[in-house]
Amino acid sequence: MENVDELEIKKFDALASRWWDINSEFKSLHDINPLRVNYISRQINLADKQVVDIGCGGGILAEAMAHHGARVTAIDMADAALAVARLHLLESKLEIDYQKASAEKFAERHQQQFDVVTCLELLEHVPVPASVVDACYRLLKPGGIVFFSTINRNPKSYLFAILGAEYLLKLLPRGTHDYGKFIKPSELALWCRNCGLQLQGQVGLHYNPLSKKYSLQGGLDVNYLAHYLRPEG
Ligand code: SAH
Repeated sequence: MENVDELEIKKFDALASRWWDINSEFKSLHDINPLRVNYISRQINLADKQVVDIGCGGGILAEAMAHHGARVTAIDMADAALAVARLHLLESKLEIDYQKASAEKFAERHQQQFDVVTCLELLEHVPVPASVVDACYRLLKPGGIVFFSTINRNPKSYLFAILGAEYLLKLLPRGTHDYGKFIKPSELALWCRNCGLQLQGQVGLHYNPLSKKYSLQGGLDVNYLAHYLRPEG
């Protein structure tokens, strides 16, 4: 059995044609992309690094990392999203190797091949996130870094990420997220520790509904990014 929720894949496939429309259901991913790419490139110079992006969707993050000079492979389980991602390369003139695979299957064939693994906004969509975390560890070369982003689980995150984002402000389609699958930073940290990853840093991703702007700040109450190191040796 693959660690894949077919309903989630169907949901993303149904929206696939709109991945690169900055006013679509994917607007918030476009809006946060510069912030998260800045965060990543502050930790590591992406130029010529071997990077794999897990759950790449239409390639918003993958392309931005390729713009920074990274050699990007990107995987997803949604056929239509991958088709859109490949098509967009005609426009962007970038080279990215898009493949249909789950993190676990891909890790069986590509152990220790990557300097950087990115796994953003994916863990809250899979049945067993700890298994994806373990696959990320296996994909990394010793000394490599993995970046995760997901949503915390507490009353405030329910209010902001479900009621606020899906119902009041309509930043995301209803049903995008399932509160029960949100992940506390301590849970992510435990799964990471269990496979040998060491926490390097974490930061909150905040949305200000008045200015309609996102920013990186200290509190991890709702959306957050974290990066972990696979130690040498
Ligand atoms: N990481 C991208 C897209 C996030 S949306 C970004 O942050 O911009 C979540 C993506 O994960 C969707 O494209 C969906 O198809 C994919 N996905 C969901 N479950 C998956 C799984 N088990 N394996 C691989 N991809 C998955």
